[in-house]
Amino acid sequence: MTDALPYETLRERHARTVAELLPGLLAALDLPRADVLRLQVKRLRELVAWAKEASPFHRRRLAAVDAASLTIEELPRLPIMTRSDMMASYDEILTDRRLTLDLVNSHLAGLREDAYLLDHHHAVMSSGSSGLRGVFVYDWEGWAICYCGYLRNLLRARRREKRFYDDESGGILGAMNAAHSSTALFQTFSKRARHVIFSVTSSLAEIVDGLNRAQPTVLQGYPSALHLLALEAREGRLCIAPKDLCVGAEPLLPEIRATLEATWPVPIWNAWGTSEAGALALSCGYAPGMHLSEDLVIVEPVDDQDRPVGPGTRSSAVLVTNLYNRVLPLIRCKITDEVVVVEEECPCGSKLRRIADIQGRSEEWFRYGDVSVHPVLFRDPLGMAPNVVEYQVVQTVPGASIRIRTGGPVDLPSLRDAIAASLRKAGVPEPEVDVASVAQLPRSRTGKIQRFVPLGRQGSQDS
Ligand SMILES: [Zn+2]
Repeated sequence: MTDALPYETLRERHARTVAELLPGLLAALDLPRADVLRLQVKRLRELVAWAKEASPFHRRRLAAVDAASLTIEELPRLPIMTRSDMMASYDEILTDRRLTLDLVNSHLAGLREDAYLLDHHHAVMSSGSSGLRGVFVYDWEGWAICYCGYLRNLLRARRREKRFYDDESGGILGAMNAAHSSTALFQTFSKRARHVIFSVTSSLAEIVDGLNRAQPTVLQGYPSALHLLALEAREGRLCIAPKDLCVGAEPLLPEIRATLEATWPVPIWNAWGTSEAGALALSCGYAPGMHLSEDLVIVEPVDDQDRPVGPGTRSSAVLVTNLYNRVLPLIRCKITDEVVVVEEECPCGSKLRRIADIQGRSEEWFRYGDVSVHPVLFRDPLGMAPNVVEYQVVQTVPGASIRIRTGGPVDLPSLRDAIAASLRKAGVPEPEVDVASVAQLPRSRTGKIQRFVPLGRQGSQDS
């Protein structure tokens, strides 16, 4: 292997890729409907042709599919990929033959901050609400598009409204883990000097103090985290005047939206983000709900039998086809988010189809007396352990009881100690944590595993 290029060289080159791609990605937001559909089918055909050529997994599964004549209407005849399918056949799905799951896992395990894989790719992991651990690789252009996909509606609105700020700065509450796409994208592409980043697992007092000093124009984080900050603002402890609020990674529940709007009367930018394909949908700032990123992804809402669900009906899951990332072709990948497609046109003029804000279960914080702990404190170390297949974290009075299903050796004492140390750092006095490997995790009647069970909710896992 040749010596890796300096990170800054690659990053600057990558920023130029974003600058080249952005005008087209912004223009796509205002294309006539017929052009959106034309673009979608063109990219679908290119993706399927490439997947058949370069991925042994897809070549086998799509043998009967003629990429050149494929239509969107025929898409439901293609096989569905689950996350288990993906993880089980990882090396065969990848289209860069230098890459393997082992290489990706060891790259992720060694990440301290954002880094390139083979000077070209980015790897991220997911251990979110869907439960099963997943790792994802983005190629050079895919990573740049993924970033623009999160940003473009805000840029569009600001250009329309001629809303620019000389003192632009961001206050970001995140996972602080470069194996997360949100953190890694930000590190690759944003001007770092003008932002303050806090770990959402820091103490609230520390975050409030830092934000008071930084006075950010953009406040970004999980809806549940911004909700806590809004309550701090109402109590008079947090005194900031953000111009935009950016939320994602969790449902933006109506009561949280209402509290945020009442506290800071500014646009709320909501993103439905996934590790599979970045922003599947984004709010436009002119109406509730979000526009699907239809030029970049195909989202098929389905019921619990994987049958298509029409507008106005809540789906059980969605099948996602990522049209822009070539290194890990994901075609009809199942994600268990529930969406409702909305038929009315949007006053903003975009012809991209809309969905209502994603609902479902908000991540519940664990409360230990006055200390609130976001589930990411557990999610991160569990997600980083390659052999943890899935897990459940049950809050106890002094800490947490964690059950994991493993697919290979896991250092349980280290995992326990790391999580206990994070809890201590978050302000939980003398935390007690136990981690045990089990053959099966308890499922509710609906078959779902409740990932995080706060104190007092044990036994109510079917809600
Ligand atoms: Zn709109």
